[in-house]
Amino acid sequence: MNPTSYNLFETAQKQFDRIADGLQLDRAARDLLRVPMREYQFSIPIRMDDGAVQVFRGSRIQHNDARGPGKGGIRFHPQETVDTIRALAMLMTWKSAVADLPLGGSMGGVACDPHNLSLREQERLCRGWVRQVSKNVGPDWDIPGSDLMTNSQHMLWILDEYEAIHSTRSPGFITGKPVDHGGSLGRLEATGYGVMIAVREALKDMSINPADTRASVQGFGNVSRYAVELFYRMGGKVMAVSCWDQKDLKSYTYRSKDGIDPQVLLSFTNPFGEIDRVKAEKAGYECLPGDAWLEQDVDILIPAALENQITAGNAGSISKQVRIIAEGANGPTTPDAESILNQKGILVIPDLLANAGGFICSYFEQVQGNMNYYWRKDEVLGKVDVQMTDAYLAVSQHAKENHMPMRDAAYVIAVNRVAQACQERGWI
Ligand code: NAD
Repeated sequence: MNPTSYNLFETAQKQFDRIADGLQLDRAARDLLRVPMREYQFSIPIRMDDGAVQVFRGSRIQHNDARGPGKGGIRFHPQETVDTIRALAMLMTWKSAVADLPLGGSMGGVACDPHNLSLREQERLCRGWVRQVSKNVGPDWDIPGSDLMTNSQHMLWILDEYEAIHSTRSPGFITGKPVDHGGSLGRLEATGYGVMIAVREALKDMSINPADTRASVQGFGNVSRYAVELFYRMGGKVMAVSCWDQKDLKSYTYRSKDGIDPQVLLSFTNPFGEIDRVKAEKAGYECLPGDAWLEQDVDILIPAALENQITAGNAGSISKQVRIIAEGANGPTTPDAESILNQKGILVIPDLLANAGGFICSYFEQVQGNMNYYWRKDEVLGKVDVQMTDAYLAVSQHAKENHMPMRDAAYVIAVNRVAQACQERGWI
């Protein structure tokens, strides 16, 4: 599905309304939190390589900063809409709050397709974006980071322009930078490790030893390969991994009866997380249809590829053995599927919590930049573990005490914390 073919902001507002009803939030809190506090929309005229000027539309949307400076990505996407950016800014507010970070939520972007821009044009666009908002962002106010189709080079150009405008050095202004320019060690691993830290805590709660469990995973990209690696080190067995095959334009599931060795699988996986089918079959992997990952007799499922993968149509085919679904991807479970999973007694660790490790690490990148002092990788990942574990335990306890799914518990905690901060500041 085209990510912008449905209105993400309306969905985010509906979700907020449901939680606000349960919390009996008053009118002022609802009016404040169901829309962004500030929105900047602007034109960015860029001199293209052929000499012509092309005007791009950019934005920065700050949903709420009661708990701390706004934080959220910059996206480059040809079909980017203001409503998508609004929804994601709101989601960032809840993500910061559920991880208990001293941050708010923002998001920004440019409607463009970087594939059709030369590197020099991309550089001018990055510099043009920050020239439009340099007064409205900053390390103490709103901290951008990389997101869809933006990378560490884009972040460095934006930082360089911001520093030139303000005649300063300010590495804490932006995250997702190259490690040589203030990027954090551990960022690559943090999201996938975070997913497995949440699973580890869930298993502890069920008095199950990870070494006695099996998992099946969708995706073998940035998130999933590190989730698989940590699970392997915890002694668990990943029995199947599903991924996209660009040659055949479909997905396959690779299964190993003895469990997958992530290093071996990585040796024939390309940087986009696509596994070479011929090499995998030669190495003894069984090649099954793409959605077979969901039907394995395992204890844990990890959707870590795309949105809307577990639906009312396929939730019935999930094995009775499955105890935990940890959402590495954003939005992999549709709402109608969720009620089926709840009836089956499966614990769903929601995306908001399960994939927060990368966001937590971005916060640590900002902290290190502000201090201009950089931690070792094990130190960063150790701090991610502590923050993830605390967030998991808070959500899990709330869910148990109030007999609600973990997704609802995560939203209740987040909305409550933000509403309380607004109230304590005297805003409402
Ligand atoms: P990625 O592009 O690195 O990897 C995606 C993986 O999914 C690849 O292995 C690809 O082959 C596979 N895939 C694509 N289409 C598929 C299909 N139809 N069936 C099976 N597999 C398929 O992406 P990523 O950075 O790992 O992100 C994955 C998800 O996690 C996204 O939803 C993203 O928004 C979310 N997420 C990522 C991060 C992060 O730090 N990278 C943080 C939070 C959330």
